[in-house]
Amino acid sequence: MRVIGTAGHVDHGKSTLVEALTGTHPDRLKEEREREMTIDLGFAWMTLPSGEEVGIVDVPGHRDFIENMLSGVGGIDAALFVVAADEGVMPQTREHLAILDLLQIQGGIVALTKIDLIEDQDWLDLVEDDLRHLFSGTILAGSPIIRVSARTKDGLPALIDALVECLQDRPARPDLGRPRLPIDRVFSVAGFGTVVTGTLSDGRLRVGDDVEILPERLRGRIRGLQTHKRKEDVAIPGGRTAVNISGVNLDDIQRGDVVAHVSDYQPTQRIDVRFQLLSDASQSLGHNVEVKLFIGAAEIPARVRLLGKDMLNPGEEGWLQLELKQAVATIRGDRYILRRPSPGETLGGGIVVDPHPKGRHKRFAIGLIDQLESLAVGTPDEVMLQAVLALGAASVRDVVTRSSLEVEQANQAVKDLTGAGHLIWLEEKEGGISLESDLLVTSRTYYEQLANKMVNEVSSYHRTFRLRRGIPREELKSRLRLPTRLFNAVLRRLTKEGTLSEAGPLIFEPNHQIRFSPSQEKAVQELLAKFAAAPNSPPGVKEAQLEVGEELYNALIDLGLLTQVSNEVVFRTQDYEQMMSELQSLYKKQDLLTAAQVRDHFNTSRKYVLAFLEHLDQQGVTVREGDFRRLRTKR
Ligand code: GDP
Repeated sequence: MRVIGTAGHVDHGKSTLVEALTGTHPDRLKEEREREMTIDLGFAWMTLPSGEEVGIVDVPGHRDFIENMLSGVGGIDAALFVVAADEGVMPQTREHLAILDLLQIQGGIVALTKIDLIEDQDWLDLVEDDLRHLFSGTILAGSPIIRVSARTKDGLPALIDALVECLQDRPARPDLGRPRLPIDRVFSVAGFGTVVTGTLSDGRLRVGDDVEILPERLRGRIRGLQTHKRKEDVAIPGGRTAVNISGVNLDDIQRGDVVAHVSDYQPTQRIDVRFQLLSDASQSLGHNVEVKLFIGAAEIPARVRLLGKDMLNPGEEGWLQLELKQAVATIRGDRYILRRPSPGETLGGGIVVDPHPKGRHKRFAIGLIDQLESLAVGTPDEVMLQAVLALGAASVRDVVTRSSLEVEQANQAVKDLTGAGHLIWLEEKEGGISLESDLLVTSRTYYEQLANKMVNEVSSYHRTFRLRRGIPREELKSRLRLPTRLFNAVLRRLTKEGTLSEAGPLIFEPNHQIRFSPSQEKAVQELLAKFAAAPNSPPGVKEAQLEVGEELYNALIDLGLLTQVSNEVVFRTQDYEQMMSELQSLYKKQDLLTAAQVRDHFNTSRKYVLAFLEHLDQQGVTVREGDFRRLRTKR
C-alpha cells in the first residue's frame, strides 16, 4: 500500500483536490470520525484503477502549516505538489519544495490546479515554465505537471494516470523486522479506548503484539489494527495504520511518540547528523543555536553543536551534534528538518548518522569528521541492503558492483542478508550460489510485492472470467509488465511453493474451481445429454458452441469434460476414452486397421473416424501407412 502527501501554498486547493480525488474533504474527517465512532485514520484514501489503495495525507490549511505538514510527510511514497494556476509560485511553494527535497521524498507529481479560473493559455504556459525552472535540480525535476480543476474535474483522469505511473515500479517499503509507527494523531474512540495513527515503517504490527510507546516506554498491547477503515490482523510497512492500544492512557501519549516492539529501539537525546543549510536561508548557521528538530512525526527543541567549522553558510553542508530537550526514537539514516523557532524559518535538514554518539564531541577533535564520514557510509550489510533495495531485482554481480564493497565484505554481507531473510535468491544453479554469477537476487520486500501482484492478477482474472480455468501465461506476463526472466523466476517460486499452479499454458490458483450458474448448469446438462445419446457421432464443435456459448464450451474443454479432436469434431471425454480402449482391443487382434474397419466397429461416419484417427496420429498413438494404421510401438 502506498501513501502520498499533499504539499503546496496555503489556499492553493490541496484539500479541494483531495476531496475531488477521494470523495472526502480532509477537514470533515474529524467530525465524521466522531459521528461514526469507528477507528478512522483521519486520512483520505482512494482506489486506483489497478485496485491498489493509496492513502493521502493532507494537512488542512491552518496556521503552523509547515509544521503540520512536517509531521505527516515523513513516511510518504510520493508528493502531490499543488500549485494554483492563478497565483503560481508563492513562498510556501518554495519552502515545501525545499522540505520535500531535504527529506528526499522519492518522486512526485505536480497538479497545476484551478485552471477553470484561467482563460489565457499563455498564462498557464508561463506558470508551467516558472515551475520547471523552480524544480530543476530538485526531486521534482522531470515530474509531470498536470493541469487540473478540482471544480470542473478537468484533468483528474490524467492526474490519476500520472499517479499510477509514478507509484508503479516503486519498491515496497522494506520490512526489517522492527516496526515503528511515528504517531501523528492520537485520540480515543468510545468502546475502543486509545487509538493512534501514523505511517508504519520497517516492519509489521500484529494484533496481540506487546508494544511500547517511546520515548516514555509505556507498555501496552495491540487490541486492533485498521488500514483505510478495514480491520486487519497484520499491518504492513508503508501503509496508513490506526492502532488501538490497550493499557495506555490517552493523556500520556503525544504526537511524535513512536509505537514499537518492546526493546527494539533506544530513545536518544543526542544525535550526530549530516546537515545542509538551504541556499536561500536568510543567514548563516553558527554554533550553539536553538532550533526545532522535526523527525518522524516529532517536533523537539534542540541546540546545535556545529562540528569542525565556525560557521555554515547558506547552501553549505556540514556536521552537527544536536542536543535534544526530549528523547526521540530514531535510527541511522532517518531524515530530519531543522527550523528556527522565531521568526519561523526552515533552515535545512539532512540525515541522522549516529543516533547514539559516545558523548559530547569536541568540536574540532582530530579525526572526528573522518569518523562521521565513515559512519555515514554504513556497515557492509547496510550498504549491501541499500544496493539490493535500490536495484529492485538484479543479478548478484550487479548488486555487488553497485554496493562498491570489497569482495570479502560483499561475500559476508550477502551471506548475512540471506541468512536473515532480507535477501532472496530468485534463481538456483547447480554448484550453489556465487558472487560472480548472474543469478537474480532481490530483497524480500520486493519479492513479496511482486508475488502479491502476481497472485492478485491471477485471482482477479478468476473473478472476471469465472468460466476459465486460468490466465494464459503470456497474458499474465504482459499484464504485470515484468521482464521475462524476472517473471519466470517469481512464477517458478510461486508454483514451487504451491501458491499458484501451472498446467499447459495456463496459470491458476490451486483451489480455483469453475462454477456454473443454475442456468449454465442446465444448458451444460442438456448439451451433454445430446453427446450421451450419440457417443460416437456427437454434435459438432460449432453446434455445441452455438448451443451453450463459446465461453461455456471452452470451460467444458478446460474442465476436461469434452475433448476436441479437430476443428469440427469433439467427443465427451469419457466417450473418447472408451473409443481409445476399444481401439486398443482391436489392435490386439490385428496389427493393421483401415479407417473403414474402425468406422464400422464404432458404427459411425467417416468424418468422426478420420478426425479421431488423425488426432491419434498427432498424439503419436498411431502411425499411418498407406490405407492402414498401426499402433506406434516404442522402439
Ligand atoms: P488548501 O488550503 O490548499 O487546502 O486549499 P483549499 O482546498 O481549501 O482551497 C482554497 C480555495 O480555493 C477554496 O475556496 C476552494 O473552493 C478554492 N478552489 C480549490 N480548487 C479549486 C478549483 O479547481 N477551481 C476553483 N475555481 N477554485 C478552487
